[in-house]
Amino acid sequence: MTIRNLTKTYGNGVQALKGIDLTVEKGEFFALLGPNGAGKSTTIGIVSSLVNKSGGEVEIFGHSLDRERSLAKKKIGVVPQEFNFNQFEKVYDIVVTQAGFYGIPIAEARRQAEKYLRQLGLWEKRQSAARMLSGGMKRRLMIARALVHEPELLILDEPTAGVDIELRRSMWDFLTGLNERGRTIILTTHYLEEAESLCRRIAIIDHGVIVENTDMRSLLEKL
Ligand code: ADP
Ligand code: ADP
Repeated sequence: MTIRNLTKTYGNGVQALKGIDLTVEKGEFFALLGPNGAGKSTTIGIVSSLVNKSGGEVEIFGHSLDRERSLAKKKIGVVPQEFNFNQFEKVYDIVVTQAGFYGIPIAEARRQAEKYLRQLGLWEKRQSAARMLSGGMKRRLMIARALVHEPELLILDEPTAGVDIELRRSMWDFLTGLNERGRTIILTTHYLEEAESLCRRIAIIDHGVIVENTDMRSLLEKL
């Protein structure tokens, strides 16, 4: 994924991104670290087509977000910070429905939903309405839903915010496994510890500017 000179000014005049450049190669596990309000969610929102950019370019594994948006979108799975599924829908249906958005035939959609609900420990809960799940389960449901179409790139916005230590560890293991099997992962976090445990490369964003873009080891030596 390549981002060139990305800018975003919101309708209220806030300049959330002031010209960001970032490249994440296939197979990387990349952290975008920064304090609240730095521009992490805005960056992810633009890459995943949830937010319109003001300027610049985004390319997802060879597909321009401007010229080939639907191809680019198929390559990405996104786990936003807010729970944005229908709380009254059943867990299983949420994941199967998502597969439908990508044109996946129903039999395959069901297989995919089962695969990821099992991997994320939610298979027993498949017939529950989403609102009945604990916070950690809802977070895992978001991950299952993001993976159902087998995206090459998984993007997670603060995936372990508000998640207890035990679940955080198991989510870290799960993500590490996905990455080891070849998936590219980008996550945002405001914990250096999280970035340090998971990622080999890191960029630090502050006030809409990338202030550091390096490998984890060099960063730790500097601190
Ligand atoms: P855009 O420029 O992408 O159209 P807007 O500025 O119109 O974005 O805002 C989109 C929505 O986000 C609006 O509903 C707005 O009320 C809300 N919003 C405004 N300020 C903030 C903020 N600081 N953080 C999160 N949401 C906000
Ligand atoms: P982070 O994810 O690093 O906390 P954000 O990308 O959410 O940062 O926010 C960057 C800046 O843009 C902040 O000043 C925030 O208040 C502002 N912002 C975010 N979303 C909106 C919105 N929809 N409308 C207006 N301002 C926003």
